[in-house]
Amino acid sequence: MDMNYYLIAPAKTFNQSENLLTYESETKLKIGHIVIIPFGKQSCVGIVVEKTTKPSFLTKPITQLLYDEALPPSLVKALFWLTDYYRCPMSTVVQAILPRGITKKRRPTKEQLPEQAKSADNILNSAQKRAIRTIENSKANTVLLHGITGSGKTNVYIELAKHHLAAGESVIVLVPEIALTSQIVRNFRAHFDEILLIHSGQTESLRHQIWQKALQSQQPQIVIGPRSALFTPVKQLGLIIIDEAHEPAYQQDQNPKYSALRLSSVMAKTILGTATPLVSDYYVCQQHDAIVELSQLAIKNDKTASTTIIDLKNRANFARNRLLSNQLIDSIKQSLANHTQTMIFHNRRGTAPLTVCDQCGWQALCPNCYLPLVLHADSYQMRCHTCGHTETVPTVCPECSNPSIHHKGFGTKYLEQELQKLFPKARIARFDADTDSNQQLSKIYGQVYNGEIDIIVGTQMIAKGFDFPKLTTLGIVQADAQLALPDYSSEERTFQLLTQVIGRATRGHQNTQIFVQTYQPNHPIIQLATNKDYAGLYKYLLQKRKQSTLPPYSFLLKLSLTYKTEKSAVLNVRKLHKKIVQNSQKLHLSQVSITPPMPAFHERTSTGYTWEIIIKAKSRNNLLRIFDSLDKSPYLHFELDPISLL
Ligand code: ADP
Ligand code: ZN
Ligand code: ZN
Repeated sequence: MDMNYYLIAPAKTFNQSENLLTYESETKLKIGHIVIIPFGKQSCVGIVVEKTTKPSFLTKPITQLLYDEALPPSLVKALFWLTDYYRCPMSTVVQAILPRGITKKRRPTKEQLPEQAKSADNILNSAQKRAIRTIENSKANTVLLHGITGSGKTNVYIELAKHHLAAGESVIVLVPEIALTSQIVRNFRAHFDEILLIHSGQTESLRHQIWQKALQSQQPQIVIGPRSALFTPVKQLGLIIIDEAHEPAYQQDQNPKYSALRLSSVMAKTILGTATPLVSDYYVCQQHDAIVELSQLAIKNDKTASTTIIDLKNRANFARNRLLSNQLIDSIKQSLANHTQTMIFHNRRGTAPLTVCDQCGWQALCPNCYLPLVLHADSYQMRCHTCGHTETVPTVCPECSNPSIHHKGFGTKYLEQELQKLFPKARIARFDADTDSNQQLSKIYGQVYNGEIDIIVGTQMIAKGFDFPKLTTLGIVQADAQLALPDYSSEERTFQLLTQVIGRATRGHQNTQIFVQTYQPNHPIIQLATNKDYAGLYKYLLQKRKQSTLPPYSFLLKLSLTYKTEKSAVLNVRKLHKKIVQNSQKLHLSQVSITPPMPAFHERTSTGYTWEIIIKAKSRNNLLRIFDSLDKSPYLHFELDPISLL
């Protein structure tokens, strides 16, 4: 009998072994088949990627074929692309592509989804119809659907999905974070009988079963989920829709580090939907003539929104409360009197973010992360927002025993208290990452929607997807809070966040008063966001990026070294720097710039001290050539195309 030989990508590596290993099989296998193979003294899962000829060395037989069905070609392509484009170990990509616990037997479970009213018609106005035509006629592989909030992007997605499904093709819809209550899920469920829904609340077992269903189904499917939903093994993938495509949630920051947007565009035709595209995406799509604009509200209305910028430096504005301006307080009063609602936005949770001793300079820091501990006065705790460490609130300074330690700055819990003092009769709720459970979140969501809550205080979590039918006052407590972060994308992020928050108040349900409090009333970003001027933002940021050769005018590679002591970190990062400079000269690379070694933004963490080098290059290939020329060590970490340099 003839033996068959295959190259297999295993989910494990040892000793820097080759990415692909050769195994034999008596039965014929297909590309994309998932198998169990002997691996050293153990066994592991792997993906068949290529048929090969009998090698000169001895081969072992595969142990088992896990499923009769093979992974679709789009996923085999993704496997190679991710490994090559992001230089990550193929084994980590295999792990990401396959579901957890793939070898386990599962007892059938089914998710109970709330009943959903069906609506057969998908209403489209002329702008939406035009957008659909343009997208479907476009030769570009990735099309940006730039539509203002409320322009009806969801109906466009639904129509496109219907067309692909009818043509026998599957569709994957990515959302930044998924809640069963989210509007996009509800809208899709009203139009499609069966949707494979993937979200973080599901057990490993349920996720595995959904994955299995996709693998074994002969029908085209609609999948909705987070970035990892790209790895659902659907047949004939025809379209990927990425909603809120500007969100950082589409970037995976652990191995395999990748952008779901880039990956998606190599797997299938991709639609990026957002009101605030990343300038780099806008730039690239513009060059391919692949931007479709939706600039009118889908539902016309005669409601107005008036925006007032309030200077936090002018303390006369804050005569009644040090955080909430007189104008904002008056407007809240008015809203309470009219039985309408108020939303107060502040993107910092807890009571106070800094606790210090004025006498000796001691600061409350997390013993694991060396980051400031945040006071949570309601539970009488100090908490680390990075690792979750908690301790009790000190009453005296642990260094000098000074009894007057100070809590500085303020978070949403503090604002909640202040508002309750100012408006004792108001029903106030807080909505942020400290809100305990999903159940609690949906309860508050329901109460807000039904008008049982007068004032809601929250972080960016209230900026996303919340619909307030009775919102008449919106207060942004400190609009410039994130602007000062030393990162090339912080202005862009601030614009997106402010646009999103302001979008909550301009949905056309009510006439609204918006108060934007800021220390920098004339800052271009504050001005552009309050004027809803995306075109202005694009021009402003592109100009700045060009001046400093940042994306889209360059590609970035961040290299970091982490060592137990500061001394070895500095020593080794200097060596690395020298090596990079030498190698780039040897390779004769042009238009490459290499920063001197710098301490990382969070220099000290539980694993030691981190120093960094950033390399910028006009050509991504040059970045890869430098990277490939370096010796890899376990101390060296790297990220290609980072969206943030912090
Ligand atoms: P976006 O996602 O672009 O912010 P949505 O898709 O949420 O906007 O649409 C905003 C609102 O307009 C929704 O309530 C939606 O049901 C409604 N809508 C969308 N298209 C139409 C249409 N053609 N006719 C009437 N209402 C529409
Ligand atoms: Zn002290
Ligand atoms: Zn910590």
